[in-house]
Amino acid sequence: MKPRRRWTLFWQLGLVLMAVQIAVAVFLAVYATRELRQFHHEQSVDDLRRLTPLVGGRLRAALASDDPDTLTERVGALGREAGVRVTVIDLEGKVLADSVHDPAEMDNHRYRTEIEAAMRAGDGFAVRRSATLRMDMMYFASVLRDGERPIAVVRTAKSLSTVNAELSRVLRAIGTAGLVLLALTVLVIGLASRRLSRITARLADGAERFARGELDHRIEEPRARELASLAASLNRMVAQLSDQFRQLQVQRNEEQALLESMSSGMIALDLQQRVFRLNRRAEEMLEVNEASARGRLLQESVREPELNRFVADAVAAGGRISAEFRLRRLGDRTVLAVNEPLFDAQMAPLGLLIVLNDVTEVRKLESIRSDFAANVSHELRTPITNIKGYLETMLEVGAEDKAQTERFLEIINRNTNRLEAIVEDLLALARLEQPGARAALEEVEIPLRSVISAAAGHFVAAAGAKNIALRIDVPGEPAARINPQLLEQAVSNLLSNAVKYSDSDTMVTVTARRREDGEVEIAVSDQGPGIAAEHLPRLFERFYRVDRARSRELGGTGLGLAIVKHIALVHGGRTDVESRLGGGSTFKIILPEERGGGG
Ligand code: ADP
Repeated sequence: MKPRRRWTLFWQLGLVLMAVQIAVAVFLAVYATRELRQFHHEQSVDDLRRLTPLVGGRLRAALASDDPDTLTERVGALGREAGVRVTVIDLEGKVLADSVHDPAEMDNHRYRTEIEAAMRAGDGFAVRRSATLRMDMMYFASVLRDGERPIAVVRTAKSLSTVNAELSRVLRAIGTAGLVLLALTVLVIGLASRRLSRITARLADGAERFARGELDHRIEEPRARELASLAASLNRMVAQLSDQFRQLQVQRNEEQALLESMSSGMIALDLQQRVFRLNRRAEEMLEVNEASARGRLLQESVREPELNRFVADAVAAGGRISAEFRLRRLGDRTVLAVNEPLFDAQMAPLGLLIVLNDVTEVRKLESIRSDFAANVSHELRTPITNIKGYLETMLEVGAEDKAQTERFLEIINRNTNRLEAIVEDLLALARLEQPGARAALEEVEIPLRSVISAAAGHFVAAAGAKNIALRIDVPGEPAARINPQLLEQAVSNLLSNAVKYSDSDTMVTVTARRREDGEVEIAVSDQGPGIAAEHLPRLFERFYRVDRARSRELGGTGLGLAIVKHIALVHGGRTDVESRLGGGSTFKIILPEERGGGG
């Protein structure tokens, strides 16, 4: 389509103005022509009317002389003097003399309009084309009398071309004035239009920049009052807009921050189940980005059958539901999905919010707890069953057989000790695991050698029985802020295992030293059987044993290393193990730097 040519406002106005000017000029010309012609006409008639008798009077003598040459000369002189054509005609119509033409060549004038009229009424007037001169003329004829007797007709005539010349001069003046006025109009309009265009262009440019979002731009106010107030209004409007925009931005940023910092995945769906919002966590969980998912159905961008089923169920249910399932993208992690209806500010339904929570850790903890409960029951049941069995046997068979009774009592005693040991260890663990355990820890600054010596003291006999050498090595004699009872128990547990699991004639070494990084390390090394690598990560779990039967036989509860780990933890430290099957084991307690007081 061809764009319509647009006229500037000023040119539209200008065209009207120019049309008016042209109309006025034309009107003036027509009016002037008419008035001038009429005026001239009347004037000429008056002139001729006055002139003719005068001319007639001054011709009497020449007429009386009856000499044609005298008359012709006189007529010529009078004509020149008066600036008119003078003709003298006798009463039959014959031309006697003419101021501009030879009478001999002129036809009879009796029936010329003005002559006829003069014959009838004494005076005659006519405007017509002269047959003699071939031009438009005005004639006035008058009968010249001698007393009452007519002697001739005197006629004066004036060419109308002088009128036309005058008229065309006037018209030229009107035309010139009109053209000058028109030119001035065009010039003024051109200038004004250019100025206005510049101003409006500036306004338009400003508005354009606002539309592009340059809200800090301000339009320079033009001098013209109306346009200045328009510019001011535009500027004010944009200032307000930009204020509101900023507020919205802040609000949006806050909401964004809120949404993004949530640890839950959030998916907002509209009423057609199309995604309109995904927070970062949801993007991670579903491995999809918001930009590509927005505006599409969830199942189009996310291939998670369980999640899509959940959405369908939630829509079908109409109310709140929840479900737990695994997301393919997250491997074996479990999420808990709940839905929540979404409403806008006017409480009109907007869609559906799906909240996804990774509950893997929670479920793992729950399962550890229930495993633990099962393990505890199992551990307790074995000694209880034993005790009960032997007691019942004794009740049945009586105490006659003294040797057997003693053996039974011995077994019952051993199982009772075992029960006691398990319960003691469980209690110790429970205390260490209490939420406030770390804060409530009573600590003293103490040389580590004293703690290690006290622990080793308990195992001198057991080690001696297996001919195991106990060596203590504390270079630099470090001290630390610790709870001595707990740390002694931890070192004792490690020593107990080392002596218990090592063969005879070996050596167990306890060392304590400050490491280069400032941490304090207590290590118990043995030359025992060692532990296969696959067991190492789980060694410090409760009831985890490499060889269940052997541990039981040696009186282990399966809780010793778990207690060591928790003692390290309440001190803000950690444990470590290095071991190789057949190559001995080294268990370590590592305490953080600030615990290592004056060294
Ligand atoms: P337990 O009461 O069975 O000794 P622990 O928690 O103290 O329980 O130890 C867990 C398991 O770690 C033990 O059953 C044993 O198999 C293994 N273990 C611990 N210390 C040693 C060691 N010094 N040498 C070899 N194996 C060890």
